[in-house]
Amino acid sequence: MIPLKPRADLPTHEVFNTPPHQGDQDLWQDDTALRDGITREGGAWAADKLSAFGCIAGSAATFARADAANRYPPELKAFDRYGMRINEVTFHPAYHDLMALAIAHEVPNFAWRHRQPGAQVAHMGFSYMLNQAEGGVMCPMAMTYAALPVLQLNEGAPAGFVEKVLSDAYDPRDIPWSDKHGVTVGMFMTEKQGGSDVRANTTRAVPETAASGAGAAYRLTGHKFFCSAPMSDAFLMLAYTGNGLSCFFVPRWTEDGKRNAFYIQRLKDKLGNRSNASAEIEFAETRAVMIGEEGRGVRTIIDMVQGTRIYCAVGSAALMRQAVVQALHHTQHRSAFQKRLIDQPLMQNVLADLALESEAALVLWLRLARALDEAPADDAAAALARIGTAIGKYWICKRAPGHVFEAMECHGGPGYVEESILPRLYREAPVNSIWEGSGNVVCLDVLRAMHKEPTAMEALFAELDAARGANATLDHALIRLKGDIASNADIEARARRITEAMAVCWQAALLVRHAPAAVADAFCASRLGEHWTGAYGTLTSGADLDAIIARAMPN
Ligand SMILES: Cc1cc2nc3c(=O)[nH]c(=O)nc-3n(C[C@H](O)[C@H](O)[C@H](O)COP(=O)(O)OP(=O)(O)OC[C@H]3O[C@@H](n4cnc5c(N)ncnc54)[C@H](O)[C@@H]3O)c2cc1C
Repeated sequence: MIPLKPRADLPTHEVFNTPPHQGDQDLWQDDTALRDGITREGGAWAADKLSAFGCIAGSAATFARADAANRYPPELKAFDRYGMRINEVTFHPAYHDLMALAIAHEVPNFAWRHRQPGAQVAHMGFSYMLNQAEGGVMCPMAMTYAALPVLQLNEGAPAGFVEKVLSDAYDPRDIPWSDKHGVTVGMFMTEKQGGSDVRANTTRAVPETAASGAGAAYRLTGHKFFCSAPMSDAFLMLAYTGNGLSCFFVPRWTEDGKRNAFYIQRLKDKLGNRSNASAEIEFAETRAVMIGEEGRGVRTIIDMVQGTRIYCAVGSAALMRQAVVQALHHTQHRSAFQKRLIDQPLMQNVLADLALESEAALVLWLRLARALDEAPADDAAAALARIGTAIGKYWICKRAPGHVFEAMECHGGPGYVEESILPRLYREAPVNSIWEGSGNVVCLDVLRAMHKEPTAMEALFAELDAARGANATLDHALIRLKGDIASNADIEARARRITEAMAVCWQAALLVRHAPAAVADAFCASRLGEHWTGAYGTLTSGADLDAIIARAMPN
């Protein structure tokens, strides 16, 4: 029996065998696989900043703020005391603190402020660490990050706006963007009658003057059904002109210093992601400027969607990493049947399996981030980023809810109560899979890339084939995958199977090339072996559980 000191004397009994509070975490130093991966994929030059941020994002104070921001969710203040529409959403002070912390550390714009190889890799490193503490503020971070290329590449954004996106100042004031020190951007596509199928949009855009097309002023009338971060300073929004679905820049305040004409109807009462407001909004003659080519709105906004999709993958990977950290902490300090939980063979299998899934998610988003870094100068990297983002978004996000649940179960009852972070992680886990392209839609996007962009498959298989010969199970899986995609029969119905196989093979290939043998071997034997059901704690005998757990253990 581990000697455990009593922690308090109560009138009825001594309290012992309870884990200590976790306190501050160092999300950088504690995470060997993250540090190795950032270096490998080209982000080592940002290590000092990442290291400093790891302590800030992982501090008990940041986690406490995240708890408060979610416990006291935003409220809609549609009207002021005199009945005037103000469309304000008020937040707990902790939310503003987290927004300020994120923006001060360049979480929404690091890659755009430091344009050099490895910038996307480092950028996603910041996102990964903060996401472990809090997912809600990551929504405006993701949209702001993803909006910037759209605003820069397409005609129409007002002069001076992009500079404010690049600011490291959080300015929560509800005033015109031109008077602010820094801005955030939202994205409104989904309508009541259709979210995946944005062509079902009914919002109409009418030119204000004889001028039309990119850069021209329009008035928008219609509605949007899911509008996250509605206090953002501007939104990219889809609406129909007579020439098709087009993309618009909608400022919160108009240039003449008036509140733009839109009406927040209510805030969603959400399962998770509660610190972040998501609204239903009516638009009536709302002032807007067209961004990009008329009738090509989906093409214009798709770059933003791609950007937010990688955030989803990173976000879900972050939830899994924090779930592993929590499970390791608890099981190290809790005993049952005269042995620490972490020393019980079956618990070791569960913990090691959770650690494998977490590291597999990590290596995949890191590789994707490098592809994003290389994409502007390398067509193969661009093709890999395109198909890879859909693959990673699907699989990493799909694995998170079950993973977090299993980490919760490692805690027994205390994992199920709100003082623990596990319920919040658990509630947060499904959203990344639902928004920015739900599972099926993303898998159909993989098929689209397969069929319409042949270089995407070449780039993917170049990546997979680089690991050939190192692990027989992986080699067999690659042959199976090639067979699966050779036939077009039932291809749409098989899109999930195909995407999953691509994702798992890719994770395995990356682990084989870059992770310790204990991790790579166990992953291939489990995920690519014959009897894998997806349940955790089912690693095959021979897996080096101690080595896998030691690698995941915070230092
Ligand atoms: C918390 C939250 C915040 C959000 N914030 C925003 C926001 O800020 N801006 C915004 O624009 N949207 C936002 N959304 C909306 C989100 O992007 C949509 O809910 C999502 O795109 C799905 O659209 P839908 O809800 O209309 O579902 P549907 O499009 O009706 O889809 C329902 C299901 O059908 C599946 N499906 C769709 N088409 C096919 C097909 N061809 N074959 C097989 N299956 C299919 C989908 O994968 C999904 O599982 C938010 C959603 C949530 C939950």
